[in-house]
Amino acid sequence: MGLGRVYAVAVVGIDGVLVEIEADVRSGLPGVNVVGLPDAALQESRDRVRSAVVNSGEQWPRQKVVLALSPASLPKVGSVYDLALACAVLDASRAVPRTRLDNVAFLGELALDGRLKSVRGLLPAVLGARRAGRERVVVPAAGLPEAGLVPGIDVLGAHHLREVTAWLRGADNLMAPAPIAPEPAPGGPDLADVVGQEHARTALEIAAAGAHHILLTGPPGVGKTMLAQRLPGLLPELTDAESLEVTAVHSVAGILPVDRPLVRRPPFVAPHHTSTATSLTGGGSGMALPGAVSRAHRGVLFIDECPEMSIRALEALRTPLEEGEVRVTRAKGEARYPARFQLVLAANPCPCAPARPEDCVCPPAARRRYLGRLSGPLLDRVDLRIALRPPTGGVLLDAACEPTERVRERVVEARARAAHRWREGGWTTNAEVPGPVVRRSYLDARAALAPIEVALRRGLITSRGADRAMRVALTVSDLAHKPRPDDGDVLSALSFRNHG
Ligand SMILES: [Zn+2]
Repeated sequence: MGLGRVYAVAVVGIDGVLVEIEADVRSGLPGVNVVGLPDAALQESRDRVRSAVVNSGEQWPRQKVVLALSPASLPKVGSVYDLALACAVLDASRAVPRTRLDNVAFLGELALDGRLKSVRGLLPAVLGARRAGRERVVVPAAGLPEAGLVPGIDVLGAHHLREVTAWLRGADNLMAPAPIAPEPAPGGPDLADVVGQEHARTALEIAAAGAHHILLTGPPGVGKTMLAQRLPGLLPELTDAESLEVTAVHSVAGILPVDRPLVRRPPFVAPHHTSTATSLTGGGSGMALPGAVSRAHRGVLFIDECPEMSIRALEALRTPLEEGEVRVTRAKGEARYPARFQLVLAANPCPCAPARPEDCVCPPAARRRYLGRLSGPLLDRVDLRIALRPPTGGVLLDAACEPTERVRERVVEARARAAHRWREGGWTTNAEVPGPVVRRSYLDARAALAPIEVALRRGLITSRGADRAMRVALTVSDLAHKPRPDDGDVLSALSFRNHG
């Protein structure tokens, strides 16, 4: 009979890599062999693909079928190759003309009856197909809104293998993606709902403007969670590139809403304090699932009652905080997931957690141990530490609480100043600038550093802590439209480190 060749895409981490699928139909005992590092799911897809082909009214070859996937070094997992495997067999047995097989990548899982089902990671797969020079992808109709987000490649959707074979024979029956509806205005909870807590509101604004990590301590019910939930609303909208990147992670995680797949606002992810290290960083068999740190990429990761979290889980946060990505070890090589998030930690001041601090019954040693569970290296990366107290009488009538929208305007302006300052280094926020570069930026503002030098001499902060205070002071001055920080800004930055 003959040889068939079509293309699919493997998703490794959030990168799509073109995979060539060859089918060889030759004389011999009827049967199907798959070669090229197949995993268990791929072996299962042999039977699924055969049933789907037969149930779509096509002939399955009565000969020996060999299916090869290359490059062989890539881990090829899951069911995303079903459609391409079917098309390769139909090509090899000359059941369909070759005309439309060239320059296409076929993506999607087949049900036994021939229906096409959507798969995780469709967006990165389409991006990979475009990067590899494919002009067109054929995807499950359910995945059209997501696949259609990628410009510069022709996207066609089908419900059933039958529709794909009709198209291969020349019909113009496949669907194009519908134009994307404009995004609604950013909703979410408003900062105006948080009554009192002036100090914490200011800290949250600084955190948003500089992308600084923040720790909120205080008794239960004081508003720590409310504040954390309002941080994403203060952040600027994602750029087009960030938006595609975040959408790609959420696509691989399988958490995109079907009808409105493009993520435009910074995500908010709040793993429970009982979460394991693996659920934070990602893993699992087959196509690894991105963990909470990656689902929070370009957004906010909020961990409430963080001293209750296991030491292993807390330690697992360190690598992504340092490197902005996580590497998940796979049977063959490793997968990388971006994980550049803003961390918000919240903690009760002690294990007994009374509503009023004066009612605490914990021995002093237990109080110290409690927050001590947050390791030095982890806490050292948290620039802002805020101790919240229950609001005192009278604040409830204080109506001067600014809404999210107004604070966000200041945050966006301050971020623009920071991005302009660091434009040559390619950084966009004060929090991501390396320590030596931050120190150099103070060459024109040496006098402002006096309070930090005192704190260093007295051993009140580490040298990394000094770098972090310098970063926060830059953000404070950005919010105040100053060309460079003065000692007031530096003192204010230090005050946010000494609470809690
Ligand atoms: Zn206590």
